[in-house]
Amino acid sequence: MNSFTLCPSILSADFARLREQIQEVEAAGADWIHVDVMDGHFVPNLTMGPFIVETIRRITQLPIDAHLMVTDPDRMIPWYAAAGATNLSVQIETCPHIYRTIQVIRDAGCRPGVVLNPGTPAEAIEEVLPLVDVVLVMTVNPGFSGQTFIPAMLSKIERVSRLIEKTNSQAQIQVDGGNDASN
Ligand code: ZN
Repeated sequence: MNSFTLCPSILSADFARLREQIQEVEAAGADWIHVDVMDGHFVPNLTMGPFIVETIRRITQLPIDAHLMVTDPDRMIPWYAAAGATNLSVQIETCPHIYRTIQVIRDAGCRPGVVLNPGTPAEAIEEVLPLVDVVLVMTVNPGFSGQTFIPAMLSKIERVSRLIEKTNSQAQIQVDGGNDASN
């Protein structure tokens, strides 16, 4: 079994050639298609409505991994679930009622994930680790592609990994931003 799950972000795609680009990453061994949803509010950039997820769903059978970088994820979860997302990950910074949000994601038929910004401590998600399928550690500031990996995030990934063990969570750790063969 592959010990890594590769989830190329659609943010890096040439949208004029979306079908070919998805087929290329699929042929190259991508496991999931990562969709960076930005609302122009939680992050400065604006991207990817549910329509894009619907389009991707028609192109590939791969799981669609939607990362909601939005101020009000609870409102948008049903849209992305209906569009065909497999995983729905929410930024812990935007979720004062994270238990409820995770339940809303499960009830919508998706696998829940929580995301930590670089400045948010690993411990912020400890309580909900047993309830989620994915923990995403942002290794750049969210909002734009092509940024450099923040080295201090390596020790944070280790802390998240220890918390996952401690809480008997089955969550998979995901690392987002500035990833290449060197890290
Ligand atoms: Zn992402």
